[in-house]
Amino acid sequence: MDLAGQKKDYYLVLELERSCTTIEIKKSYRKLAHKYHPDVNNGNPEAEEKFKEISEAYAVLSNPEKRGQYDQFGFNKNLFEDFDPNSVFSEFGFGNIFDAFFGRASSTSQRRARSKGSDIRAVVEISFKESAFGVKKEVEYSVDTICQECDGKGSATEDGVETCRTCGGMGKVNVSRQTFIGDIITTSTCNDCRGRGKIIKDPCKKCRGRGFENDRKKVKVDIPGGIHNGDQLRVSGKGNSLGRDSINGDLFITTKVLPHPEFIREGDNILTDLEISFAQAALGFKLEVETLDGKEKITIKPGTQPKRKIVLKSRGMVQLNGYRRGNHIINIDIKVPTKLSREERTLLLRLAEIRNDTLDGTADSIFSRIKNTSKK
Ligand SMILES: [Zn+2]
Ligand SMILES: [Zn+2]
Repeated sequence: MDLAGQKKDYYLVLELERSCTTIEIKKSYRKLAHKYHPDVNNGNPEAEEKFKEISEAYAVLSNPEKRGQYDQFGFNKNLFEDFDPNSVFSEFGFGNIFDAFFGRASSTSQRRARSKGSDIRAVVEISFKESAFGVKKEVEYSVDTICQECDGKGSATEDGVETCRTCGGMGKVNVSRQTFIGDIITTSTCNDCRGRGKIIKDPCKKCRGRGFENDRKKVKVDIPGGIHNGDQLRVSGKGNSLGRDSINGDLFITTKVLPHPEFIREGDNILTDLEISFAQAALGFKLEVETLDGKEKITIKPGTQPKRKIVLKSRGMVQLNGYRRGNHIINIDIKVPTKLSREERTLLLRLAEIRNDTLDGTADSIFSRIKNTSKK
């Protein structure tokens, strides 16, 4: 299913270049939001549509992680998983009007929003070959998980948790805010319970009332073939917990591809250098070279010139999220010896003599040599 095809490009929607900065994104959104906000367009449905579109684009591009995912993989509904309009648009002061737009119940203030644990970052090292074909790896990382002792309640006893009186257990309170559009009621986190909606009377000793504790966990990740050094994989819901009734954050794994002693990656192609001697180039020969698929026999044709390339088709990297493979390109260089033995020198002098290669270095003799050659 290709959802991307139904979506307009977020950068175009916000009238931005792909290389734009976060400040430019904010600026452009502010300008467009002012123009299309429903409150200044008397509920004009076209303006409302446009407002939704720019807000959706902003929600993604203003978040560096989501923007990274969008740049790499395009539109994906996961971009809006755990999306919290109140925090994304808080600085514009009109968070709660998005509840209706993004298909949520318009009565968030009646329902306690679930708190979300923070995201975690981990690094996984893989070999060059693993990055070419993909690999399953186990990643160990440190994470806040639900406290086993209190089952994430944070309280040592069953009735040790009281509903917060300030917010009535919602975790949020309504605040009237002045925005560039006018007064708008928004919700903000309750200070008394810090958004939890509950007050813990007798905190659990193990987690000290937090409902979560730090632990080491392992997760198996499928690293796709063609992944680049520095690419990030998101493992949804494997991040930190804030105890019972919270949503786990995500785990972001950055891949570190260890360099290969010979192979250089360029796009989906692999480049290697091959140095051969003048004699090998002139006479031609066969040899075995290392490829991602093991040893492969190649033929250097007689009369091979410097800078020639040999292309081994489909011996390169697997395309990321695809099946095709790049090529393995061997760049040939012909090395000239810097030190000659007496015997080598004699042989080369003999060769020069036979080929009429001038060795006295005057312009005239070189010129006549070139003329003689071109006549042949
Ligand atoms: Zn506990
Ligand atoms: Zn409260």
